[in-house]
Amino acid sequence: MARVIAIDGPSGAGKSSVSRLVGGRLGFLHVDSGALYRIMTWQCLEHGVDTSSEQAVAACARGVEVECRPEDGHIAYYVGGEPPGNRIRTPEINAHASPVATVKEVRDIVTALLRSMTRFGDLVVEGRDITTAVFPDSPARFYLTASAEARAMRRQKEEVEKGIANQSAEAVKASLLARDAIDSTRRHAPLRKADGALEIDSSDMTLDQVVETVLASLPKEWL
Ligand code: C5P
Repeated sequence: MARVIAIDGPSGAGKSSVSRLVGGRLGFLHVDSGALYRIMTWQCLEHGVDTSSEQAVAACARGVEVECRPEDGHIAYYVGGEPPGNRIRTPEINAHASPVATVKEVRDIVTALLRSMTRFGDLVVEGRDITTAVFPDSPARFYLTASAEARAMRRQKEEVEKGIANQSAEAVKASLLARDAIDSTRRHAPLRKADGALEIDSSDMTLDQVVETVLASLPKEWL
C-alpha cells in the first residue's frame, strides 16, 4: 500500500515548496492537486464556458483528459500531449479557479484522479481537501497556514520571479482572500483544518524549519 502525506492550507501558505522538499527527502512523489483544478478552469475558459454555470462547467470537465506521469520527483500533467505550464498560473485563472472548484462533478473527477495516483508509489499530496476528503485516513496530515500578509508577499514574489504577472502586493492579497473565502465556505469539501491534522503556522518560520517540523511528525517507520 502506498503511503500518503497530506498537506492542506490556504493559498500562499507554502504548501508547494514544503511538499516538494519533503517529497525529495523521502523519495515520495509530489502531487499538486490545485494544478488539476487550474487545468479544469483553463479548459473551461479555452472553450468559452461561463464558469458561473455549474452545468456547463461539469460538462466541460467531463471532456478533459489529463495524462499523469511521474517525472523528476513529481506527477506531471499533460493535456492534449502538452504540459499546461504557466497558462494555468495567470491572474485570470486565479479568479475563476475557486468557482470552478465548487462544482461537485469537478471535485469528483479530480478526487478520483488523485486517488488513482497511489499506483505510482508513495506521495506527498497538497491542496485544500486532501486531509479531509481525498486521503482522510492518512496517518500523516498537516494544515499549513500563515498570515494573509506573509502569504501575499510570497505569492507576489513568485509571480514576478516566474514572469507570470506584475501585480501589486495589495492586488495579490485581495485575490488570495477572495479565493480563501470561496474555498472555505463552499458546500462540497470546504477548506478547513481536519480533526487530528497538525497545524503549522509558517508566518515566522523558514522553509527549512517547516520541512523539519513535518518530517519530525511523520510515523517513525516512514523515515
Ligand atoms: O493550490 P492552488 O492555488 O493552485 O489551487 C487553485 C484553486 O483550486 C484553489 O483556490 C481552490 O479553489 C482549488 N483547490 C481545491 N481543492 C484542492 C486544491 C485546489 O478546491 N485540493
